[in-house]
Amino acid sequence: MSVRAGIVVTGTEVLTGRVADRNGPWCSEQLRALGVDHESTVVVGDRPNDILAALNWLAAEGCALIITSGGLGPTADDLTATVVGEFQDRLMVVDEPLHLRITAILERLTARWPSVDQAAIAAGNLKQATIPEGATILEPIGTAPGLVVPPPAGRDGPTVVVLPGPPSELVPMWEAAASSAPFIAATEGRVAIEQAMLRLFGIPESEIAATLRAAQTAGLAIDQLEITTCLRRGEIEIVTRYAPDQRPLYDEFARFVAENHSETLFSVDGTTIDQQLAALLLGPPLKTIAVAESCTGGLVAARLTEIAGASDYVRGGVTVYSNAAKSKLAGVPAALIERHGAVSEEVAVALAEGARTVLGAEIGVGVTGVAGPGGGTKEKPVGLVWCAVSLADGDLAVRRLQLPGSRQLIRDRTTTVALHMTARLLRERLR
Ligand code: ATP
Ligand code: MG
Repeated sequence: MSVRAGIVVTGTEVLTGRVADRNGPWCSEQLRALGVDHESTVVVGDRPNDILAALNWLAAEGCALIITSGGLGPTADDLTATVVGEFQDRLMVVDEPLHLRITAILERLTARWPSVDQAAIAAGNLKQATIPEGATILEPIGTAPGLVVPPPAGRDGPTVVVLPGPPSELVPMWEAAASSAPFIAATEGRVAIEQAMLRLFGIPESEIAATLRAAQTAGLAIDQLEITTCLRRGEIEIVTRYAPDQRPLYDEFARFVAENHSETLFSVDGTTIDQQLAALLLGPPLKTIAVAESCTGGLVAARLTEIAGASDYVRGGVTVYSNAAKSKLAGVPAALIERHGAVSEEVAVALAEGARTVLGAEIGVGVTGVAGPGGGTKEKPVGLVWCAVSLADGDLAVRRLQLPGSRQLIRDRTTTVALHMTARLLRERLR
């Protein structure tokens, strides 16, 4: 992992969190795929001094390549090109052919608005055609050109790739940037980096830490691999990065994890439980599913239908919050709710069966629980959730969960459990 790169994300709206950064993570993944070691992402507001400071810091860190995103628009607060020109000691010059090309784009765009201020458009156009001398131009996707700006001849330092802020413009421009001569020159000597992911469910993170120690004790040289574990949506992800010639070592490590956690390891190829369940439902044979949700308010249905093609197997879902709704829409007998309470094993099962019969599906999922923060009691505390999966032939899975955390976490974690329970029940049937 020899060639290092940094990313500078600009924009006060990203700095303050009003817009979540999508460009930094996206560029990071592209860099990894190219074998460039992404060192850090710096997020700065639209202030020239801060952008310059970020470039200087990443240069001092030894980055051979810096990607910037944002600040290429026609307005006065879009300053990145000028700052990068200054950083690379290059004069800002108008590129006449580029000027004409942007004029043509603008003529098409403004044809529909004859009343726009032509003078302002012309000024913005000229600004976007003013670039550091010697920069490689990346053709505009919107109106802003991207730029690849190497250091001046005879000076060491990073090459800067300047990309527009809107992801819909940045993404299509990447290919041209990565195949430009100065980009290739700056990343010479890069080494491919492989990345693989294992996903586990139903296991605390501490057990993975123990497994890593055990792997070392067993003589696996896992310090040759870059292993990170993270807890996400109630699952554990083990992401490993390694040089291609370390593949046998990675395979051995993955086998070690599989042997120690055969019950909880569910994905060795990066697929999510959502995708795996979709594949199980698609079959063959195709199996249809329906859900009746109380405390998750439709989130299970949302996850099921997030995957394109879900209409082939998702019959539908009902959100049944009040007791009356549970009876009316999911066919839960009022007497059952009366006897056991809305949050109970019996009602979860009735919801699953109700979803199945009311919506005419082969599989029914029922969820009921106390998401909090209020509404908990001694017998039914916040975080208590009952989840049931019912199959047409009477096969049934029910689980009582006691989930920690906030309302949002409890609801989200419940959806993960519901998907895993359903997938597990279907897999058992396939055995
Ligand atoms: P424009 O010509 O639209 O001004 P620009 O290159 O100057 O383009 P910015 O002004 O920095 O880009 O950002 C324009 C918009 O693009 C932002 O308001 C935001 O909606 C989106 N955007 C910018 N940066 C990011 C980012 N890192 N992640 C996600 N969206 C972003
Ligand atoms: Mg802008």
